[in-house]
Amino acid sequence: MSKPEPLTHDVIVVGAGLAGSWAAMIASQQGVKDVAVLSKIHPLRSHSGAAQGGIAAALGNTRPVPSTGAEGPLEQVPDGSEPSDSLESHIFDTIKGSDWLGDQDAIEIMINDAPRVIYEYEHLGCVFSRTPDGRVNQRRFGGHSAPRACFAADWTGHVLLHTIHEQALRHGVKFYSEWYCMDLIVEDNICRGVVALNILTGEIHTIRAKAVMFGTGGYGRAYKITSNAHANTGDGVAIAYNAGVPLMDMEFVQFHPTGLYKHGILMSEACRGEGGYLVNSQGERFMERYAKAKMELAPRDLVSRSEQQEINEGRGGEADRDAIYLDLRHLGREKILQRLPQVRELAIDFVGTDPIDKLVPIQPTAHYSMGGIPCDASGQVIADAQGTPVVGFYAAGECACISVHGANRLGTNSLLDASVFGRRAGFAIAEFVKGGAQLHPIAGDPAERNRQRVRSRMENPGKESIDKIADALKTTMTINCGVFRDGGKLQIALQDIQRLEERFAHAPIRDKSSRFNTDVLNALETEHLLSFSAVIVAGAIARTECRGAHWRTDHPARDDQNWLKHTLAQRQGEGEPPKLDYKPVNINYEKYPPQERKY
Ligand SMILES: Cc1cc2nc3c(=O)[nH]c(=O)nc-3n(C[C@H](O)[C@H](O)[C@H](O)COP(=O)(O)OP(=O)(O)OC[C@H]3O[C@@H](n4cnc5c(N)ncnc54)[C@H](O)[C@@H]3O)c2cc1C
Repeated sequence: MSKPEPLTHDVIVVGAGLAGSWAAMIASQQGVKDVAVLSKIHPLRSHSGAAQGGIAAALGNTRPVPSTGAEGPLEQVPDGSEPSDSLESHIFDTIKGSDWLGDQDAIEIMINDAPRVIYEYEHLGCVFSRTPDGRVNQRRFGGHSAPRACFAADWTGHVLLHTIHEQALRHGVKFYSEWYCMDLIVEDNICRGVVALNILTGEIHTIRAKAVMFGTGGYGRAYKITSNAHANTGDGVAIAYNAGVPLMDMEFVQFHPTGLYKHGILMSEACRGEGGYLVNSQGERFMERYAKAKMELAPRDLVSRSEQQEINEGRGGEADRDAIYLDLRHLGREKILQRLPQVRELAIDFVGTDPIDKLVPIQPTAHYSMGGIPCDASGQVIADAQGTPVVGFYAAGECACISVHGANRLGTNSLLDASVFGRRAGFAIAEFVKGGAQLHPIAGDPAERNRQRVRSRMENPGKESIDKIADALKTTMTINCGVFRDGGKLQIALQDIQRLEERFAHAPIRDKSSRFNTDVLNALETEHLLSFSAVIVAGAIARTECRGAHWRTDHPARDDQNWLKHTLAQRQGEGEPPKLDYKPVNINYEKYPPQERKY
């Protein structure tokens, strides 16, 4: 491979999803001249574009038809009357959804910013679905006590991402499409740039920058059944960890209740928001047993566990009896075609079932990472429990942990998180760069180190298959670190990961070519999956309680006495488990003291 000159930009944003695009667009709009975005896939294929159901904001534009009660159809709130929702209610729902692990100061910031961000999207040309009088329409979502999901049919992420991408282009942001970030350069707690592979040519570059931001998205691909795109391999999280940044609350992985059976592809929660039912093989609406008040619109952790329990107790369907069913038939053809056209197509294409007249087989699917790179509400990455900043390094979106979702995220709060905090990071980065930030010198040749990393794996004489290692990892994570966990299963997962890491040392890259070498990408991604999966499992073993998505059957209660705190996992030497540290949750004990979480 040839040795190109280092590239230089004022700001490098890694990730072209909503978080990265907002940050780049705002930094540029605020007068930073040279902002570049790096994306390993075409920017518009970022997973944000796959989001279906909606983005939350307490606008209060719709409410249940008064005569039918809370579960009935929605109507728009008449002009001049009280809105049906409030910021206060959105804040409380999010805190309760997080099982009190969310930082309440950050949650307040996100929710207070939400209406402004929706109107900003609208003014930038985003085509939301409308109420009859032209306001932004809103539907119900799980764990939210009012209809507050703003949506564009079931293409919400697609329209939001296109809107912000266009604006970033308009403001002169440069996009490096199909460039893969391999490494982060941090020395003396100052971030100095990244190392990236140009996938087309195979050249590896050092890219120097005054500020680096990660908006690298989630890591659902560590699981066998997942709703996540193939690109969601948690690279940014692993790269930051390898560079010495601790990871926060990684044990909290969200399983979405409605992944298509055997595929994991998402049937949006909007299906239940629009009134869909969940039934077991006996046709029972089993949520009555688990969440009498909220039924199918209980939060995701609870619904996924309820489904898994039905399956474990023999009430699942299909040949191996581990499917549950989504019933949309009573919504009628017109509503399904108007509000849920994409999920209908997905069901027809992948399981051969048309939800207009048939039950859709589904199962819980790995969906969202609550944990990630610790940072504050301006995206500033934090190096330790004392809050020391990593100068010049920012993060936002799903790879970041601020933490607004705590132990369990509510649906539609993630597009909001990526938008609000991507936007805020953009302002903070602009201020940092315009305030005289420097290009710091870089010791040695990080690009060369990474070329050597690829070369030595190409020359590795071992016989192990990287694909088989990745597959074994996903299997053990699904079986042993899934919806229900216990100490024994988690230890098996830990040992499996250790053995897989040893095997990985003997796994060569077989394709030796340089142009568009997907074998190289697969090797780098698998290395990343292994390193952060070990962190998920270590955090889960240590946390001997049930909280949100982390459910230990051998410790079946929430334990605020010992565990109302965030985990921070720091990388140790090669092959060693991470060092775990903890920091307090930001709680306003007068306003939102911890309570039992009932639905
Ligand atoms: C199917 C599905 C439906 C969803 N529906 C909803 C919904 O209705 N409402 C809601 O609120 N949330 C939803 N979510 C969650 C939400 O979409 C995501 O959490 C959010 O969009 C994440 O945005 P992001 O900008 O952080 O990352 P992403 O949009 O995932 O973007 C990540 C970016 O990082 C880049 N990248 C990653 N690694 C590298 C690397 N090594 N080098 C270079 N580039 C890299 C990728 O190319 C990509 O551009 C859904 C998620 C899924 C999977």
